[in-house]
Amino acid sequence: MFRIGIGHDTHRLVESRPLVLGGVTIPFDRGSDGHSDGDALAHAIADAILGALCEGDLGVHFPDSDSGWKDADSMQLLSRVVWLARERGFEIENVDANVMLERPKLRPHVESMRENLARALNIDAGCVSVKAKTGEGLDAVGRGDAVAAQAIVLLKPED
Ligand SMILES: [Zn+2]
Repeated sequence: MFRIGIGHDTHRLVESRPLVLGGVTIPFDRGSDGHSDGDALAHAIADAILGALCEGDLGVHFPDSDSGWKDADSMQLLSRVVWLARERGFEIENVDANVMLERPKLRPHVESMRENLARALNIDAGCVSVKAKTGEGLDAVGRGDAVAAQAIVLLKPED
């Protein structure tokens, strides 16, 4: 039986923080505020996998109160969630994700993000879609105050 899940994440952009998306550190004067490295794309995908498993959200599994996840590499966090899915007898079929960021332009980094994510998800990069959007100058993303991501994943039973 297939399972489907949806995930979403938003981080405030602040000075003196790295901007990490899909495991790629993007040169910029601001970055994601947050407990881990603030990788909104990795978090949205992990959230979608947990959703497909009916396992709550990321905060349940990696609480802010746990100092072990301070400045954590979110790709490791994503790998942990993929491992949880395998424990339940599922593997990832495909992922489709949107990243919303006003600037800088993400397109030059999308291929690296897809490769990093595919490695953590244990699938081919051809099954990982990352689409870069802006906020068109509107809302928190559009004002450059936030980065957001949404993802949908399909899980299939392990062979
Ligand atoms: Zn997050």
